Amino acid sequence: MAEIHTIGVVGAGQMGNGIAHVAAAAEYQVCLTDISQAALDKAKSVIEKNLARQVKKERISEADASATLARIRFDTDMAAVGDAQLVVEAATERVELKYQIFERLSEIAAEGTILASNTSSISITSIASHTDRPELVMGMHFMNPVPVMKLVELIRGLQTSDATFSAVEAASHRMGKTTVVARDVPGFLVNRILMPYINEACQALYEGIGTPEDIDVAMKLGTNVPMGPLTLADFVGLDTCLAITEVLYEGLGDDKYAPSPLLRKYVEAGWLGRKTGRGFYNYASE
Ligand code: NAD
Repeated sequence: MAEIHTIGVVGAGQMGNGIAHVAAAAEYQVCLTDISQAALDKAKSVIEKNLARQVKKERISEADASATLARIRFDTDMAAVGDAQLVVEAATERVELKYQIFERLSEIAAEGTILASNTSSISITSIASHTDRPELVMGMHFMNPVPVMKLVELIRGLQTSDATFSAVEAASHRMGKTTVVARDVPGFLVNRILMPYINEACQALYEGIGTPEDIDVAMKLGTNVPMGPLTLADFVGLDTCLAITEVLYEGLGDDKYAPSPLLRKYVEAGWLGRKTGRGFYNYASE
């Protein structure tokens, strides 16, 4: 298997820009692509801002920050990831979209290129079946915000080879992450546990058991977590929370995973959390 020098990232949203950042900081060449130029522009300014913050906190030097940024190319054409040895897909959490992207990556990516997905919940085996190289496909699930969160969840599809697994594990470690291994089941490990918790908090709000603030303070101070479930949901994106919960519901076939009607309603309204300025809380002034 070819040594990894260049990492392609498909999708430059909240996760894609963070993955590009940590990959470039680990001295990989990075090519970040998105269908939207606006998303790429925003990704660049978020990476610049996050690097500037690290400089201010004296975690890295000015020179490190500019070298990191200089290692990232931005492109609206997915074909730009053609020279990568590892591609990490981090586009919107929609099954059909993931299939289309992996079909296209099979055409674009050089033979031997590993195709990883940052999906939060979709079957890696099913994604792999939409490629010409299922042995080179696996799940590489970063946490949000990527530059801060230490975990990467690694998921093998049914046909993932040991060499693919070892290469992605090594790349995760080089990016400073700790890895855990999860089976290829809906939600893997983190979201199998986290999303029912967030969904239950939505349901508690829907049933009027408490206000958003009370729900969050209750869980924050009551269970010693850094943020309450509704604040966390706004941070993740309510569309992403709903999509993952639907995968759990359909994939596990158990009513206990049914998405809360309130979560659905907010997504219908376009209240997707921080990224749209409104979710369980209002961020319009930020
Ligand atoms: P996001 O909405 O912030 O970004 C998604 C990006 O994908 C957008 O910029 C969009 O333009 C782009 N996109 C859509 N179609 C595309 C295509 N055909 N080619 C290239 N780009 C395309 O979403 P996000 O929160 O960054 O989530 C991305 C992935 O990461 C999802 O699979 C999600 O489940 C997963 N994930 C999210 C979180 C989280 O906390 N938000 C955590 C872990 C994993």
